[in-house]
Amino acid sequence: MTACELALAGVRPVVIEPRTGPSTEQRANGMVGQVVRLLDRRGLYERLSGGAHPAPVEHFMFAAFPLPFGRLEHNPVHTILVPQQRIEAMLAERARELGVEIRGGHTLTGLAQKDDMVVAEINGPDGSYSLESAFLIGADGGRSVTRKLSGIDFPGVTTDKTVSRAAHVSVPDSLRDPISGGLRIPAYGVIPPFLHHRTERGLVSFAPFPDGRTLISASTTSRPAGEEPFSVDELRDVLEYVLGVPVPIGPPAGDGPHMLRRTVGGNTRIADRYRDGRVLLVGDAAHVHSAIGGPGLNLGLQDAVNLAWKLAATVRGWAPDGLLDTYEIERRPAAERVTMQTQAQSVLVGPGPEVTALRVLFGELLEEPAVLQRVADLIAGADFRYDMGAPGPWVGRFSPDLGDVQRQGRAVLVDNTGRLAGVAAPWSDRVDVVGVPVDGVAAMLVRPDGYVAWAAATGGEPDVAALETALTRWFGAA
Ligand SMILES: Cc1cc2nc3c(=O)[nH]c(=O)nc-3n(C[C@H](O)[C@H](O)[C@H](O)COP(=O)(O)OP(=O)(O)OC[C@H]3O[C@@H](n4cnc5c(N)ncnc54)[C@H](O)[C@@H]3O)c2cc1C
Repeated sequence: MTACELALAGVRPVVIEPRTGPSTEQRANGMVGQVVRLLDRRGLYERLSGGAHPAPVEHFMFAAFPLPFGRLEHNPVHTILVPQQRIEAMLAERARELGVEIRGGHTLTGLAQKDDMVVAEINGPDGSYSLESAFLIGADGGRSVTRKLSGIDFPGVTTDKTVSRAAHVSVPDSLRDPISGGLRIPAYGVIPPFLHHRTERGLVSFAPFPDGRTLISASTTSRPAGEEPFSVDELRDVLEYVLGVPVPIGPPAGDGPHMLRRTVGGNTRIADRYRDGRVLLVGDAAHVHSAIGGPGLNLGLQDAVNLAWKLAATVRGWAPDGLLDTYEIERRPAAERVTMQTQAQSVLVGPGPEVTALRVLFGELLEEPAVLQRVADLIAGADFRYDMGAPGPWVGRFSPDLGDVQRQGRAVLVDNTGRLAGVAAPWSDRVDVVGVPVDGVAAMLVRPDGYVAWAAATGGEPDVAALETALTRWFGAA
């Protein structure tokens, strides 16, 4: 994603990637939050959805509470159910179309910073070599070599109590509830699909994916991981423990790769710094947290898009002073919100009667529309705004839908007054002027990452001086 955005912004990145083919690891099953709208803005959502545009979802979950977001007046929660391998394949294809060089089979092993460049040591199929570049971005995951080589600390907590088990399985047709799509367990009831289901002994989920695969997961603190390799039989035993009744699941049918994963505990950590000179971190390299609720790609892909245009501006020489520093200023709070909410969810789905009591109270609070809205905004990543120093309800937030005008990753001035093109003309190499009808909006300056830097409501005179200030602040001198 970072490479695609850099290429759109006129910079030529090289991607160093140890893998030579698609990952066989089963990770994300989908994305949730503003990233879905962001991908749509670039025309990338359509590649995953087969043509459709995203709409807010009626239901989602938080800490195993099914939440009726369809009731909200302003529902910010968008999702797409698609496995991470497809997301990665789509982004790799997009990067290649944009001319990005992807070096598969190459691994970063060392780096040194000089005044005007980074020298990366790389191990490739033909041996080791050095690569000089203006900047180096560590998008190399939670165990980031870039972060370690740069001496950036990764403070946070490790928990080792909960054992999570997940596997693709086969389920007898008689257990599939035709009405809800859930799992109908004799002498127990129906476990709804794609929602966490908590008991006082643990957490279960049942996910019958559209591609025919069925994923069941169970986590608990009371069944430690043994030495033996994890198996569907072990998952069946743990399911029986958590639910109190047997569930006759079997090994999956059909071709793999199939998920068969047992993880003990987890990490919640945020990098001490997102930047060390000419080295920057994005995605899991900068933060790790529980996967509960699936917030990882919303966080990481928005990091990528926030960083890329600022870094491109720096490389191309038009970045105003301090622009690159706003990457961490804006994105660290996003990571802090995600680590907070995943830790909160992990506690709320924990075992025991005290947690049940807490859930009763939390469930009552969720009946309040304002609380439901707050949780919806939290899940979407829309619960905080970037400090952009301009007034109004839109500034610092992801902009309302603007159709196709940001497919090329450019900043836009939405001018529905017909009078502001002249004001933005000195920035025409950096900012496009477009007309897009948006409710209540006379004009709006939207950065390449989709966030609003200045706006004027209909019914008043746009503050031209404030617009010029915003243009200069984000896009440099006229
Ligand atoms: C079980 C599980 C379920 C999840 N479910 C969801 C979900 O439903 N929704 C969601 O949004 N998120 C989910 N996540 C989180 C999501 O998978 C991560 O947030 C995401 O993969 C992070 O992307 P990344 O590119 O930062 O890091 P990674 O995906 O880890 O990619 C890092 C890349 O760096 C490469 N690399 C490693 N070392 C080097 C080196 N030395 N040199 C060069 N390259 C290197 C790796 O090969 C890899 O390609 C889940 C995670 C897990 C583990």
